[in-house]
Amino acid sequence: MARAAKKTEEFTHMPRVAYFSMEIALENDIPTYSGGLGVLAGDTLRAAADIGVPMVAVTLVSRAGYFRQEIDSQGRQVERPDDWDPARYATRLHAAVALTLEGREVWIGGWLYVLSSRADGGIPVLLLDTDVPVNDPRDRDITHYLYGGDETYRIKQEAVLGAGGIAMLQALGFNLMGYHMNEGHSAFLTLALLRRFAYPAEDLRPGESPYDLPRVRELCTFTTHTPVDAGHDKFDYDLVQRIHGDLPDLNAVRLLAGEDRLNMTRLALNLSEYVNGVAKRHAEVSRRMFPGYAVHAVTNGVHSSTWTSLAVAAVYDQYVPGWCHEPELLSRADRIPDGELWEAHQEARQALADKVRELTGVALDANRPILGFARRMTAYKRADLLFSDPARLRAIAREHPFQIVLAGKAHPKDESGKRLIESLHAHIRELAGAIPMAFLPDYDMALAVLMVSGSDVWLNTPLRPLEASGTSGMKAAFNGVPQLSVLDGWWVEGCLEGVTGWAVGDDTPAANSNDAISLYDKLEKVVLPLWYADRAGWIAVMKGAISKNAAYFNSHRMMRRYATEAYLR
Ligand SMILES: *Cc1c(COP(=O)(O)O)cnc(C)c1O
Repeated sequence: MARAAKKTEEFTHMPRVAYFSMEIALENDIPTYSGGLGVLAGDTLRAAADIGVPMVAVTLVSRAGYFRQEIDSQGRQVERPDDWDPARYATRLHAAVALTLEGREVWIGGWLYVLSSRADGGIPVLLLDTDVPVNDPRDRDITHYLYGGDETYRIKQEAVLGAGGIAMLQALGFNLMGYHMNEGHSAFLTLALLRRFAYPAEDLRPGESPYDLPRVRELCTFTTHTPVDAGHDKFDYDLVQRIHGDLPDLNAVRLLAGEDRLNMTRLALNLSEYVNGVAKRHAEVSRRMFPGYAVHAVTNGVHSSTWTSLAVAAVYDQYVPGWCHEPELLSRADRIPDGELWEAHQEARQALADKVRELTGVALDANRPILGFARRMTAYKRADLLFSDPARLRAIAREHPFQIVLAGKAHPKDESGKRLIESLHAHIRELAGAIPMAFLPDYDMALAVLMVSGSDVWLNTPLRPLEASGTSGMKAAFNGVPQLSVLDGWWVEGCLEGVTGWAVGDDTPAANSNDAISLYDKLEKVVLPLWYADRAGWIAVMKGAISKNAAYFNSHRMMRRYATEAYLR
């Protein structure tokens, strides 16, 4: 393998931006991601690699992965380990660094994975790994389980990611022009920078901060993704002091990270010159959550070639050459002959139908539209909203038959998410005969691309304003698949009614309680009749999704904005 021969020295000669993320979806067979955050991190780096933005990424190796999902005969999620072997995909780093955690010296080694690109070089990704023989057995699994373990385990992981990551970059000789925190998990890196940029004690006047805060802020960018307070990590200072032995003076930390508990988001906010939310609506919500901070909006995007089915990509190659590298060109999608786009979509549908049959035995009908829904199974995403009135759903299906494909994992500790999966399976049994339906186990990148390209309508029904952005609907747009979604996250910007897809309800929180009715009304009166009665009208909406949404909600545009507004400010 060519990439196995790569060494970090090939990447240290030019200044880079260091991108820190607890999870990164590097490729489908590397299970170092759990959902949207990791997929976004991967798409961010794939775009940087295409455009040639010099970056280096830092994450944990997560040798035991997230988990593999199976579904038992009762429709319950069963979690299996998802071990992977970094040696098959990456080369060992020739450096190691140490942190003091819980009073023990913990050595951190790691792996170099190179995210390849069209340009030469690619983006180096450091996968930090504490599973090295010198470590105490208690410390060897710190980097094994993505989002596993308790609070103590979590703070150790975050210390390794932030403080360990910074130390590793320095040990390898990287020349860094900035640090980008993708979520607050890596915010300990700011404290490592404070220590690096401390003034000598003899130069200080009484009461003066020993740290060069402006210098650290100047270097840091922070992207927040979580519009719920409970989603931001907070640690008791007792725990922080007991575990994390490499901190600056605790009083200084309190001023920056909160009096009562160490809030990772606060810390990142206070030490980053550029802060952003991931959609315009999310930035507004974040400004209300964190008054006093300038929160910019950089709306997410997805990576062109990663999320477009081969059949549709071949059509773009012919009619919109260059679309992969410059997705803005897809605004010319009207050039594509209707018949060729429709044929390509039928191929993608067939690929999904084949997968559904292979995994579940369910045979889909080639002459009925497919509604697709797949995302992390957690309460606010309301995967069961479509089933809130089964009698109405049956009545709609009698008039305009359709079929449904579902997928998604629940975090092993998210009981309500797991109950959602069970209830979806109950609905599948209950509606059998009336509506062909399948739940595909073990949602991952490969299933995602099959589903967003093979469905006819992509559904999204989160509780406003909890969907920070959402990205699967953008992947659907790249495949000419329109979205029917609650107006939250990116859809507030992306929805042009009847042109790129359709809205469920309006964009006020009050609409949440009427969403089921709105969803049924739209399906019954607008979406399904259009699919059956006006094929040219339907294809016009497919092209609207491509020309208006794929052309804009792509990670090339997102990366150009980060580069010019955050990194080169
Ligand atoms: C895109 C993607 C997600 C995120 O989808 P949302 O619409 O943001 O919820 C989650 N998991 C996988 C595997 C994905 O590909």
